[in-house]
Amino acid sequence: MKDDIVTLTIDDIGTNGEGIGKVNGYTLFVKDAVVGDIVKAKIIKEKKNYGYGKLLDIIEKSKKRVVPECTVAKQCGGCQIQQMDYQSQLQYKQNLVKENLEKIGGLKDIEVLPVIGMDTPYHYRNKAQYPVGIDREGKVVIGFYAGRTHCIIDNTDCKIGSPINQTILETIRKYITEQRISIYDEESHQGILRHILIRNGYHTGEIMVCLVINGTKLPNFEKLIQDLIGISGMKSIMLNINRDKTNVILGKECKTLWGQDHITDSICDITYEISPLSFFQVNPVQTEKLYKKVLEFAQLSGEEIVWDLYCGIGTISLLMATNAKKVYGVEVVPEAIENARNNTRRNNFHNVQFFVGKAEVVVPQFYEEVSTKGMGDHQNKEAIQSLNPDVVVVDPPRKGCDEILLDVIIKMSPKRIVYVSCDSATLARDLKYLVSRGYEVKKVQPVDQFCHTVHVETIVLIQKKTS
Ligand code: SAH
Repeated sequence: MKDDIVTLTIDDIGTNGEGIGKVNGYTLFVKDAVVGDIVKAKIIKEKKNYGYGKLLDIIEKSKKRVVPECTVAKQCGGCQIQQMDYQSQLQYKQNLVKENLEKIGGLKDIEVLPVIGMDTPYHYRNKAQYPVGIDREGKVVIGFYAGRTHCIIDNTDCKIGSPINQTILETIRKYITEQRISIYDEESHQGILRHILIRNGYHTGEIMVCLVINGTKLPNFEKLIQDLIGISGMKSIMLNINRDKTNVILGKECKTLWGQDHITDSICDITYEISPLSFFQVNPVQTEKLYKKVLEFAQLSGEEIVWDLYCGIGTISLLMATNAKKVYGVEVVPEAIENARNNTRRNNFHNVQFFVGKAEVVVPQFYEEVSTKGMGDHQNKEAIQSLNPDVVVVDPPRKGCDEILLDVIIKMSPKRIVYVSCDSATLARDLKYLVSRGYEVKKVQPVDQFCHTVHVETIVLIQKKTS
């Protein structure tokens, strides 16, 4: 059947946003097709039970189909579903969470609330990482990888990024060309400039530009600085050293070329400093809605002991600290914890303590140590109280929580767990574990942090069963 041209109706959507339809009972995945489309496709890959089709023509357009704002939406791997109208995107994400909770988590009859969306779902990202390359004609390309490849689509006008990024990127492109800066080549591991990271403070307008290089120096960088500091809001120009042959974008070492080594921004009236290596939620408008839900689910009265695991720069920790007795934060990136401690001081909190390390190592160790020491001085009493928290917040990366961590959380026996997840499949797996060990799922609230992509953020309130 390979190379056959077929006509099919798209009636489902896959995990990567592709359309799914059937041809004589055979399932075909068609990238860029939308549920409701009738399309003509060419079969490009055939497996036993399913295949992949290339979209050739749309015979009848779905009502859900829109013209993407971005001219390279189809090629670019950044957004997968810009061709779907926004309400349908939200519906799709709600269904996705529900399906994962049922199929992976075995959680039937759980209400998944409608996804909290954005009023204007564009230009929302406060952080963007652009690969730099050279095309076949030897021209500098700056943009995004095409889906599932390392081919760079030249585009500095990203519709989900900050509009100012275009000016910054074109300034850097001019510098690269004029100063003949060598561009990193993945195959040969030669060349200097690899990626450009830009962070924008949503409330402050502050900008950080961080150039990721395969080396320790950027030639004639003063010329670039001269031009970049003319851009309003520029606060920090940095280098990140990444000499490894790897797909990981950032290396561990940063150097300041000009200005500060961080920018600041605020969420819910708390100010934060953010370094290049620290995690900070990428959609500031939605983050406020997300965090307010986390706070609502935590049901704090001012007397609670709270753990915030995977705390990043302490954003959720400090928000919790506004209405809790004591908050403990745990995070693996040392720079993020440095930010978190500075943020605590900057905002005058005195009831927060941070630990650096993997949550699945730090928390069990702490539990072991404190529970084997008896109750003694005041410090120790506080430590013992910390083992019996009211609320535990977890906000892990896509792979979810380690079982060792879930086990120690169960031992600590909090009244409530607030799970903030960016992958509903691993969320469902972890919920299944918690539900089999004395907890129940009370509320499931997705929030659209990543409009036009297939990703969805979900907050879950999990409560200890009383009977
Ligand atoms: N709650 C924060 C950060 C969430 S992102 C916020 O809302 O901004 C997840 C964080 O987990 C990142 O900061 C990442 O560095 C950290 N992380 C990843 N693996 C970890 C682990 N095993 N233990 C602790 N932190 C981890």
